Amino acid sequence: MSKTINIQDVLKRLGLKEINEGVSTGTVWYDTEGKINKSYSPVDGSLIASVKTATMDDYEKVMQTAQKAFEEWRMTPAPVRAEVVRQIGNALRDAKEDLGALVTYEMGKIYVEGLGEVQEMIDICDFAVGQARTMNGFNLQSERPMHRLMEQYQPLGIVGIISSFNFPVAVWMWNTALAITAGDVVVWKPSSKTPLTAIASHKIIEKVLKENNVPEGVFNLIIGRSSVMGDNFLDDKRVRLMSMTGSTAVGKRVGERVGKRLGKTILELGGNNAVIVTPKANLNMALMSTVFGTVGTAGQRCTSTRRIILHEDIYDEFKEKMVNAYKKIKEKIGNPLDPNTLVGPLHDIHAVNQFKYAIEQVQKEGGKMVYGGEILKGKGFETGTYVVPAIAEAENHFEIVQEETFAPIVYLIKYTGDVENAIAINNDVPQGLSSAIFTQDMQEAEKFYSAMGSDCGIANVNAGTSGAEIGGAFGGEKDTGGGRESGSDAWKAYMRRQTTTVNFSSDLPLAQGIKFDLD
Ligand code: NAD
Repeated sequence: MSKTINIQDVLKRLGLKEINEGVSTGTVWYDTEGKINKSYSPVDGSLIASVKTATMDDYEKVMQTAQKAFEEWRMTPAPVRAEVVRQIGNALRDAKEDLGALVTYEMGKIYVEGLGEVQEMIDICDFAVGQARTMNGFNLQSERPMHRLMEQYQPLGIVGIISSFNFPVAVWMWNTALAITAGDVVVWKPSSKTPLTAIASHKIIEKVLKENNVPEGVFNLIIGRSSVMGDNFLDDKRVRLMSMTGSTAVGKRVGERVGKRLGKTILELGGNNAVIVTPKANLNMALMSTVFGTVGTAGQRCTSTRRIILHEDIYDEFKEKMVNAYKKIKEKIGNPLDPNTLVGPLHDIHAVNQFKYAIEQVQKEGGKMVYGGEILKGKGFETGTYVVPAIAEAENHFEIVQEETFAPIVYLIKYTGDVENAIAINNDVPQGLSSAIFTQDMQEAEKFYSAMGSDCGIANVNAGTSGAEIGGAFGGEKDTGGGRESGSDAWKAYMRRQTTTVNFSSDLPLAQGIKFDLD
């Protein structure tokens, strides 16, 4: 345990108890009767606390409260709604250190990244406050005299949020800040692997909701097992938009079920992100950025760098630089609450098994391990979740390279000839989330983000695949699901679009000059 952070004090300040209620409609917490979910820390294996999960009865109560709250919330002016979001941002500022520490302790990412995750929540709140006054529609030219033609955006209703364990709280706020400002109400079903960060987040906003008399049911939390309420939630027609972040496998199920009832979805799914390094790159810049992309969050970011596509002329030099950097990283694997640590644990043994499987499989398919891959043992590593990040040489067509392994293993892939060949390799995977090129050559860079370039939702130049700002729309193509959330005009997904024609003449001209006279 870190010398500076006492996790018991953190839990107390965040209002967490030994056993916690897992269902809330804002300020009211429900004493539910579902199974108890125990949350263990990947840092040291300790039981952090337990959660009472929801039954279907609890689910129904929450949905009815949310439905009712929407009737009032949708008629509250957007800047007034956003004032609540502004105050939530400030409440998060006050609780940043504690919530960041809990994110670290329950999920496993290093403390500065735990703080960074809370900072993203704060940033999106600020963003949404400004957006409240710019969710513009259009005034259009009518073809009819004395007619006004316009489009506007209206609130949707209940927005469901299903979030992944690796960004246990930021995903909630990316969606919530925009949805609430747009006039929707949210029902959040967090990952059952990280329920305590979700409860703590809801407790942080509770005071703001009370002080602003926010209707009960605008902000809802349901911690329930997917086997109990998963499909009911997906099939529920009251949920107008389901925003799901997670693996492609679960995302396909969500897309199919919600699509079957013609509900809307935002799907933010797995990535298989590549960095291209050309002979024209500044190799030191490429190295620093790539190492953060591969080992940051112990390879458990959707935008983690999974493949490095290296030109043959710089392949050996870059490989050697990577290995030297990884040797330094190895000295900095440990307790993520310790400020000297750069790589914390994997979240659980399931992830460790995925890591081991990828290492076996890449070799079976003809690849070669270059560095790392050990599971650390001994003092401080008793959980069996600390691993040495791995580098393997591979070919892009290997089955294991085509998959996302949610752990710190990166594949080095050689290309020859022009940058077009590297772009083809970048695109030749099922996923399409993040991508990057390192080059000082303007033509190579332009080709990379042109129509013939990367087919991913994110295409960076001289900046790695990992670590997006909230100001841009975030999401990816193909098996990554096609959703966009966070900045830019992502708010439009949380609203319905309405076209209105107003006739202020005393005649009734029809469009296209159609005559429909009764006489
Ligand atoms: P996961 O797919 O296992 O779970 C995601 C969420 O879905 C969890 O809350 C889980 O409880 C829920 N879920 C599972 N089965 C369900 C069902 N039948 N009905 C309803 N909900 C169900 O993913 P994970 O392991 O938590 O997260 C890691 C994955 O998420 C990786 O693939 C990563 O790339 C992806 N991810 C994507 C983004 C993005 O923005 N594209 C961001 C973060 C993580």
